Amino acid sequence: MRTTVRAKKSECSGCGACVSICPKGAISMKPDDEGFLYPAVDGALCVNCDLCEKRCPAGKPTPENQPAVLGAQHRDLFVRAASSSGGVFTALARSMFAKGGVVFGAAFDENLRVEHIGAFDESELAAMRGSKYVQSDAADAVGNAAQLLARGLPVLFSGTPCQVAGLRAKLNGKNEEQLLTVDFVCHGVPSPGVFASYLKELEAQRGQRVVAYRFRDKRRGWKDFYAVATFEDGSEHTGSQIDEPFLYGFLQNLYLRPSCVKCTEYRVGHHPSDITIADMWGVERVCPEKDDDTGLSLVFINTEKGRKAMEACAEAISSFPVSQLAPLYKANGCCEKTAKAHEKRWLFFRRFKKSGFSGTYTMKLLAPPGKAEKLVRRIAHLPFGAVRRLRVLLGRGK
Ligand SMILES: Cc1cc2nc3c(=O)[nH]c(=O)nc-3n(C[C@H](O)[C@H](O)[C@H](O)COP(=O)(O)OP(=O)(O)OC[C@H]3O[C@@H](n4cnc5c(N)ncnc54)[C@H](O)[C@@H]3O)c2cc1C
Ligand code: SF4
Ligand code: SF4
Repeated sequence: MRTTVRAKKSECSGCGACVSICPKGAISMKPDDEGFLYPAVDGALCVNCDLCEKRCPAGKPTPENQPAVLGAQHRDLFVRAASSSGGVFTALARSMFAKGGVVFGAAFDENLRVEHIGAFDESELAAMRGSKYVQSDAADAVGNAAQLLARGLPVLFSGTPCQVAGLRAKLNGKNEEQLLTVDFVCHGVPSPGVFASYLKELEAQRGQRVVAYRFRDKRRGWKDFYAVATFEDGSEHTGSQIDEPFLYGFLQNLYLRPSCVKCTEYRVGHHPSDITIADMWGVERVCPEKDDDTGLSLVFINTEKGRKAMEACAEAISSFPVSQLAPLYKANGCCEKTAKAHEKRWLFFRRFKKSGFSGTYTMKLLAPPGKAEKLVRRIAHLPFGAVRRLRVLLGRGK
């Protein structure tokens, strides 16, 4: 009897598409002990049609595209301040509202859980702005977006490349005329369970609830990653990419989803979306005069539909063509390469499963190795012959 969809957990990106692909409603997403969502199949409802596995996008190749590349920035400084890079997503979303469409994207709910929601107007858009470095639960949104498209409504669906691939798997080539998809260059997603546990630790330290969280607050500029947690009384906990434990752990790949470190498909030239947005890291090496440190996006236009969508919001954006790509790819590794899991990921999760997230432990785990650890590592990496000689010297071998 089927209990899940993919035989290997590391193949499942958690896109959530199988939940609405299943014709019997037998699939729901459940967290595992690392805090990531995976499909669970209710044996009483499953009729073994295997549709979930057949349509699952994981491991399927994406047709190659040759994107046109732009540097771009929303003209409105307030939009840039609220967005993670240059605010191009907001321009595309507003253009979708102008033609009566619905925009899907990731937002925090009242418990600071990240999930995909649908926005019908500007007032609902604000919550989607800004990167949330936690995997978003998109299962319901995939089903809802497919229903709206079937009713003929225009839809902008934004998310990780694998979530976009999930929606397309759900649509199976149908009702795509009115669909615009926007993804991003993707480093990988951290565990929602780890983030929830981290928030609990912050709340216990302050004795108050965290009511808002920003992963990329721009008060210190665009290039300096700065996380801000806001408590009930308006006070804040802040930290940068080198001293804020959750952010640091994310950037060091300590708790990425297992599928993310195997995700070789969704790189530049193989994104499943019409438009791919990224931070234009490395801008100082290519065109420093364009950088005002308020946020600049690197935009890959993958399809003709994407080109038309960018044209439709051209008034809101200032843009320029980019041809020197190698220095930008070097500065933004995930354009071309897949993130590598931190070697101490297993140690982190061994402790996490017993006692949850600890900022102090995380920072200690990620600290540069001390003298004793360096020695152990050196011995572990000695060639076999040298280890044998060492054992002989220590009187433990021949
Ligand atoms: C987990 C993650 C990893 C990323 N890795 C890279 C990277 O390696 N290199 C790079 O250049 N850019 C990366 N980005 C994208 C980058 O941070 C910006 O989101 C992107 O440049 C768009 O910026 P913007 O200013 O146009 O819009 P913003 O308003 O900042 O972006 C909001 C958009 O991001 C989507 N979004 C936010 N959080 C999530 C989430 N958890 N899951 C799905 N969608 C989400 C929203 O739905 C919305 O469409 C990543 C984003 C996320 C969420
Ligand atoms: S459709 Fe998505 S969530 Fe379902 S098994 Fe495949 S990758 Fe996992
Ligand atoms: S790295 Fe790949 S599998 Fe992970 S969230 Fe991004 S697109 Fe999905």
